[in-house]
Amino acid sequence: MALPLDTPRNASVSERDRRSVFHSWSAQRALAPLPLAGGSGVEVWDEDGRRYLDFSSQLVNVNIGHQHPRVVAAIQEQAATLTTVAPAHANDVRAHAAELILQRAPEGFSKVFFTNGGADANENAIRLARLTTGRDKIVSHYRSYHGNTGAAITATGDWRRMPNEYSRGHVHVFGPYLYRSEFWAETPEQECERALRHLERTVQAEGPDTIAAFLLETIPGTAGVLVPPPAYLAGVRAIADRYGILLILDEVMAGFARTGEWFAFDAFDVRPDLITFAKGVNSGYVPVGGVVISDPIAAVFDDRVFPGGLTYSGHPLAAASIVAAQQAMADEGIVENARRIGAEVIGPRLEALAAESSLVGEVRGRGVFWAVELVADPVTRAPLAAADMGAIKAAMLDRGVLGFFADNRVHVVPPAVIEDADAHRGLDVLADVLRAHEG
Ligand code: PLP
Repeated sequence: MALPLDTPRNASVSERDRRSVFHSWSAQRALAPLPLAGGSGVEVWDEDGRRYLDFSSQLVNVNIGHQHPRVVAAIQEQAATLTTVAPAHANDVRAHAAELILQRAPEGFSKVFFTNGGADANENAIRLARLTTGRDKIVSHYRSYHGNTGAAITATGDWRRMPNEYSRGHVHVFGPYLYRSEFWAETPEQECERALRHLERTVQAEGPDTIAAFLLETIPGTAGVLVPPPAYLAGVRAIADRYGILLILDEVMAGFARTGEWFAFDAFDVRPDLITFAKGVNSGYVPVGGVVISDPIAAVFDDRVFPGGLTYSGHPLAAASIVAAQQAMADEGIVENARRIGAEVIGPRLEALAAESSLVGEVRGRGVFWAVELVADPVTRAPLAAADMGAIKAAMLDRGVLGFFADNRVHVVPPAVIEDADAHRGLDVLADVLRAHEG
């Protein structure tokens, strides 16, 4: 296999990286990061110009594609005007960014608090919920990721929480996941009903008066694109209302075109109290995130100090990139493209792959947000081993497709601007690689 690190320029960048850069979530010694030097649209390339179809959208954030000219120009123009401004000042582009985000929120949301990314968006949503209710506990899913800061990482359910559990007041429940049901369910309806009962019993056992909020990804992403049964989120809302609990929907990964909606919850019968966002809002061209705050919660802080802030809250380069990205997404029908390509191309192709390959246990998703769950045995559903997953990832890369891999899953998460031919090209490679691996 022609490893991209075989060329001197790629090897040199990778080696310099290894000498000086400390990487996330990794033991450092064995790393051999793929150098990327440039990108355009759905493609990225290495130091020697070898091109890859970006089926990962990097960290599932480059929804608008790489180097969108309108967003790049907006950042350049803002840099020439005012590169930084303290959060205490008013600033035109910051207000404009907030207005455009609020246009996508339901009735009754009229404030945005900007953060540096998704973790601190959740951190501040938790703070808002605790201060508003006067209660402490936050209930979230075991199968979830909410970011790498104090409360956000403790609200996270996956393995990344355990070494970092220094925040108090976090409770976890199992959400619906029919393929690996915790509830012995056989239908989506059973899974939904039993997951809701488990949630409500947990609330009762914890003491409803102690719970400030449910913090849930609308569609858990890194945990496996776990699209909930249609009635689940409405059921969560009903339980929240019954016990005076707030509902925070984490739209950091699912929001802004990823699912073929502006907000993923638009496809469900649910209205949150707080919405957290990051990634797709500006496709990560400048780090940013935030909380969209419903009016009753915002009103709590009309005459009471909100005890939170960040030097870069509403940074003008981030704000300019949000304005341009939001406008380009609307003008170019990018949300609609994601929805169509999910329904017409990615979904049907992955369903066909599942029917053909015994390696594929289940495919789930919508828009440009899909998981292909690979199994060693379709009957026991034992996850495919890490070594096999590594071989599949390397084989896809060798064929010019950069995939997103999590546990025993390939996530098919290209930019929302992807066109049919490129989607087919990447899916052809995935299908060929699985066929070869099976053989
Ligand atoms: N919430 C969700 C659902 C995410 O997927 C992520 C990151 O992947 C985060 C929060 C954290 O965002 P960030 O890495 O920008 O802090």
